[in-house]
Amino acid sequence: MDKRTFIKLFSAISASPVISPLSAWVLGDKLKNWAGNIEYSTENLYSANSVEQVRAFITQHSKLKVLGTRHCFNKIADSSDHLISLKSMDDVVSMDSQTRTVTVGAGVTYGKLSPYLHEKGFALHNLASLPHISVAGACSTATHGSGEKNGNLAAAVSALEIVTAGGDIVKLSRQKDAEFFLGSVVGLGALGVITNVTLNLQPTFFMRQYVYENLPLRQMQDHFDAIQASAYSVSLFTDWQKQRLNEVWLKRRFEPEPGFGPEPEFFGAKLATKDLHPIAELPAENCTEQMGVPGPWFERLPHFRMGFTPSAGKELQTEYFVPREHAVEAILAVERLRDQITPLLMISEIRTIAADDLWMSPCRNQPSVAIHFTWKQDWPAVKALLPVIEKELAPFNPRPHWGKLFTMSPEQLKSKYEKLPDFIRLARKFDPQGKFQNDFLNMNVFIS
Ligand SMILES: Cc1cc2nc3c(=O)[nH]c(=O)nc-3n(C[C@H](O)[C@H](O)[C@H](O)COP(=O)(O)OP(=O)(O)OC[C@H]3O[C@@H](n4cnc5c(N)ncnc54)[C@H](O)[C@@H]3O)c2cc1C
Repeated sequence: MDKRTFIKLFSAISASPVISPLSAWVLGDKLKNWAGNIEYSTENLYSANSVEQVRAFITQHSKLKVLGTRHCFNKIADSSDHLISLKSMDDVVSMDSQTRTVTVGAGVTYGKLSPYLHEKGFALHNLASLPHISVAGACSTATHGSGEKNGNLAAAVSALEIVTAGGDIVKLSRQKDAEFFLGSVVGLGALGVITNVTLNLQPTFFMRQYVYENLPLRQMQDHFDAIQASAYSVSLFTDWQKQRLNEVWLKRRFEPEPGFGPEPEFFGAKLATKDLHPIAELPAENCTEQMGVPGPWFERLPHFRMGFTPSAGKELQTEYFVPREHAVEAILAVERLRDQITPLLMISEIRTIAADDLWMSPCRNQPSVAIHFTWKQDWPAVKALLPVIEKELAPFNPRPHWGKLFTMSPEQLKSKYEKLPDFIRLARKFDPQGKFQNDFLNMNVFIS
């Protein structure tokens, strides 16, 4: 611990006994996001254990941001002033079997929550590729999994508790507060500090996961709809080379009746004979079990296992959502850029997401296909390539993932979100002085 850090921690402890600095994240190296590509602009990171502590912290500070599990690749969570973590507010607050809902502390991760739900006989409708992320952080950026009938993770939210800039506790629910609720769920961290989230549940279920290798591009082109309809969740992985998609991951709900074995071929792709990582060169031990072995939903819906490093680690990510009706054309447009993309790429993933009604969701009012890129960590080169991809996708009106890297101008972004003016009004109502705004939000959201 250097002297400067020690003094800061010491004075913070003595000045504010109810809020403790999150020293495990502050000490040592600079405070960075999970991928290490973003260094946060402050090391003033505090941990709150209760709603009262959150309220006290908010009223004592004129600028702050909440940090979730730090899995965003851009500066959406950054602050030059103060960061607060709700990591220890991760309890199940209540569970209602009648209404099939669970209310959780905003700091809980899907990895912690899911086994609990399963044990109680319940499931969430979907998960992202990794369970390591916080529920509040994931919903705030419209994080999604795959499956044409599955909305993003925020679509499962039925109520929220938010502490606003004035320290007021606001409770919003889909049932009672239609408009404000729809504006608040994908809140981009701009409305206040979410302290509780209520999620819709369904009875727990089991799944089998199968991976196929080498799906010809032509088959994707001719049978995109049939491929997407073939499982509860479908992911296509590609390096864009050789006119094929390297891997197809099918996640099927497991019916109690004995099922038929998997087809040895799937639209020309061959059933894998061992577990695979989406980046074929990497060992599959970090991945959820495949080869049709039945398992509970939370051990099959994500690609990566809790307790293991997800994805590749040292990487960057970008993702664009386009209306589902343009899926094939958009994928082919990206494929034409293959020789510029592949040298910088670890892997791409193509997923489908159902439409929702949340104001700032990239899938609002449109079933979508998401074209994702896991990049090597070479930001100058990736930054130079993103405008090329964005231009190629422009005819399909792409919306970038709020938590990943993009270069689209604020004016372009603005034109894609019909409800942006309402969202800005809502943010000003909850936060008149811009306490929760930061450079990322000022540039990309709060534009006149
Ligand atoms: C390896 C990897 C795999 C990924 N896979 C997927 C994927 O499959 N699908 C997908 O869509 N995305 C994916 N992502 C992106 C990731 O899910 C999102 O960026 C998500 O927002 C991260 O959640 P977090 O808790 O880490 O949020 P953070 O990055 O910590 O914060 C995100 C935003 O949420 C706000 N926030 C967090 N908590 C609160 C709170 N309590 N109240 C108010 N605001 C809050 C922050 O201020 C910030 O604005 C992946 C990322 C990584 C690193």
